[in-house]
Amino acid sequence: MLAPTARPSPLPDSLWQALVAASPDAGAAVSAGAPLTRDLDVEVAVIGAGYSGLAAAYALQRRGVGCAVLDANVVGWGASGRNGGVVSSKFRLSFPTIDQLHGFDTAKRMHRLAHEGVRVVESLIDEFGLTQARFEHTGSLRCAHTERALAAICAEADWVRAKLGDTSMSVQLRAEVEHETGSKGFVGGVLSADAGTILPLEYVRGLARGITLRGVPIYESTPVLQMHRAPGDTHVTLRTPGGTVRAKQVIVATNAYSDLTPATSPYQRELVPFRSAMIATERLPAELDARLMVERRSYTETRRMMKWFRKVDGRMLFGGRDAFGKEGQTTGFDGLQRAMVALFPDLADVRVAYRWSGYVGMTFNSLPHVGRSDDVTTFCLGYNGAGVAMASLLGQHAAALALGETPELSLLGAPGLRPVPFHSLRAPGVRLVAAWYQFLDAVGA
Ligand SMILES: Cc1cc2nc3c(=O)[nH]c(=O)nc-3n(C[C@H](O)[C@H](O)[C@H](O)COP(=O)(O)OP(=O)(O)OC[C@H]3O[C@@H](n4cnc5c(N)ncnc54)[C@H](O)[C@@H]3O)c2cc1C
Repeated sequence: MLAPTARPSPLPDSLWQALVAASPDAGAAVSAGAPLTRDLDVEVAVIGAGYSGLAAAYALQRRGVGCAVLDANVVGWGASGRNGGVVSSKFRLSFPTIDQLHGFDTAKRMHRLAHEGVRVVESLIDEFGLTQARFEHTGSLRCAHTERALAAICAEADWVRAKLGDTSMSVQLRAEVEHETGSKGFVGGVLSADAGTILPLEYVRGLARGITLRGVPIYESTPVLQMHRAPGDTHVTLRTPGGTVRAKQVIVATNAYSDLTPATSPYQRELVPFRSAMIATERLPAELDARLMVERRSYTETRRMMKWFRKVDGRMLFGGRDAFGKEGQTTGFDGLQRAMVALFPDLADVRVAYRWSGYVGMTFNSLPHVGRSDDVTTFCLGYNGAGVAMASLLGQHAAALALGETPELSLLGAPGLRPVPFHSLRAPGVRLVAAWYQFLDAVGA
């Protein structure tokens, strides 16, 4: 946790950071960037300047509601500035599974919400003119590592087409996947056409710039240390090192970084934080660049300890979950490089230029949660590693909830905080599950 006087942590040394530094408007300040140094009165205070918090703030600004965003670090310091930039229209639970567990109407509503997430990213890109975020509606190819895994994802694609009339998922044969990816490691795959790629740090900085220009203040280096509501008071008071914020409503958008201070740490108990690591190679030689990932989509695979990859800036970007390491540690990167070379032997001699990691927030039911923890506090979190589109959507819905509206949330609506059972055992639990998954992956089960 942060000490009250702690300095903000720097952004990790990622490819995204390097691309931002090299971009023509690198010098353009994202926001005032200054910490809060006075007392403030707002209608809604938003904690967290990632996709969730900024989307919430924009939704409030559009309704004419006065708000301010507070972040312990800089804009995009959390997962929003570190992720793989895969914009997907899926949840961790498949739509047929949602149908089995919750019925067909719910599966339909969840399907609609999943695709709405991508529409929200598109419209934010348009409204804010975020060309530098380089959003491309390329589709995402899920590559099967065994025949059994292929059968399962094909069955899902068939179900979605037959039951929901969604023709955006199509099957690719082994040769097509090999041609597209340049890897012989897969037996086939399923293409989801309604997906894309983005530069994640440019996206979150662009959102921040856009809402700042529309008059919403963002206070960086401003950890919320305490949230307090005196008996009978209709307002909440947030204490930060440089001043207090009095607000009628608070939106907590701190996701897997909620334990930075005690004020937001209760929200961490909704989650099992899982470390996710990424590597990016040096620029590929021209011959490899022309042969690997020719459609420039994002790619995921079907192993339980999933890896994903895409090409950015002529480099291979390769990511995967690593339950064992902590953020900032160097563990996991060598394993990731070995996994990359196993799929792409031609990359054996290509140097890895960037390595970084961050936390994703997994939930007990594998779905994001948005809801009210009391009558003045709303939260949205738990994107289970797929939050670029979903956080952009649920931030807006959190704003609506804070204003007393009732957006359609289906299974994402949380009746209140529901801490993960035996939360204190989460670290050994995650390790145990991950080890079991790695074993199953290794034996091809
Ligand atoms: C390595 C990695 C790869 C990923 N890849 C993908 C991908 O390819 N596609 C995809 O869809 N999703 C991906 N994700 C998930 C996605 O990045 C997240 O779901 C999403 O960014 C969550 O956004 P957020 O705004 O809710 O939280 P965050 O971006 O994490 O922001 C939370 C913010 O809250 C601030 N904060 C915390 N506590 C306090 C406090 N007490 N006071 C003030 N501020 C506070 C933090 O400083 C932080 O800036 C990935 C995540 C990681 C880590």
